[in-house]
Amino acid sequence: MDEAASKILLVDDSPGDIRILANLLAGMATLVFATSGEDALVKAGAEDFDVILLDVMLPDMDGFEVCRQLNRAQTEAPAPVIFVTALDDVASEEKGLLLGAMDYVSKPFVPAVVRARVSNHLLLSRTAKALRRANRQLELLAALDPLTDVFNRRHFDAAFQQELMRAQRTGKPLSLLLLDLDHFKAINDTHGHAAGDAALVQAAKAWQAELRAHDVIARAGGEEFAIVLPGADARQARVVAERLLDVTRRLRIALPEGGSFGFTTSVGVAAGCGCDPRVGYEQVMASADRALYAAKREGRDRAAFGPEGCLE
Ligand code: GH3
Ligand code: MG
Ligand code: MG
Repeated sequence: MDEAASKILLVDDSPGDIRILANLLAGMATLVFATSGEDALVKAGAEDFDVILLDVMLPDMDGFEVCRQLNRAQTEAPAPVIFVTALDDVASEEKGLLLGAMDYVSKPFVPAVVRARVSNHLLLSRTAKALRRANRQLELLAALDPLTDVFNRRHFDAAFQQELMRAQRTGKPLSLLLLDLDHFKAINDTHGHAAGDAALVQAAKAWQAELRAHDVIARAGGEEFAIVLPGADARQARVVAERLLDVTRRLRIALPEGGSFGFTTSVGVAAGCGCDPRVGYEQVMASADRALYAAKREGRDRAAFGPEGCLE
């Protein structure tokens, strides 16, 4: 375990006690010191600690209050608190533990025991951190399409619902683009499935590069993609759609045997939806889908638009 990566906040107003604890914990973690409750709260708010050793009797507020405020401020994962205090009565110990402290050590303490307890809590804290990191990683992976690395349908549905609610709340417009690559079956048949995959990957990457940070692009399935443009009205959606069509026309997919091929896409746009409470997920999707089929019917490699407001 990487000791240098762990951090302990030592809160005590007595220089003598700080010295003793600092010697005791030397080599286990990086130590940061605070000599008052306020000082402790500021430092705990600014840095991420694995363990906080907290004295109860502090000059400005008692350690119990510090513990209460720490737990209130850091909702996600507050650092484990160990009280180290001259208050050796059972009631104080119970109070500390009920406030959420992980452990309670009375002074005078046995150095080896304090070391062992802190070491256990450091291990626990690091394990919990690694778990949280792994969970975040998994959450991200579960939201991504493995081939193209853009979001998958499941994540898109949730994100789109959320954007739609935001649009209704704020009265701002929102546009949805559905893209379906043209004659993709023929591309697979002519150049092979791997070349088809490469086309999907490059199209997704090129489109993503054209979008703003808060636009959401996802692979809706097969050779179909969906893009939500929060805040975009019909005019802005048209500009984006035309840009995506253009970028697609210019893509070239290299073939392993030499040479390359290009392809096009069709786009269905449902624009300026979101402000009308009668227009929900289904209506916007259906509007974009009808527009996509119109674009296919009209000859592909083009965008078609649903009626403004998404209601037929
Ligand atoms: P249209 O212009 O009308 O959209 O014609 P199309 O050939 O693109 O449409 P169709 O729905 O007939 O065929 C879609 C093709 O997309 C068939 C399927 O094999 C291919 N496809 C779907 N997912 C993938 C994939 O992950 N990789 C590859 N290489 N092809 C895929
Ligand atoms: Mg399709
Ligand atoms: Mg297609």
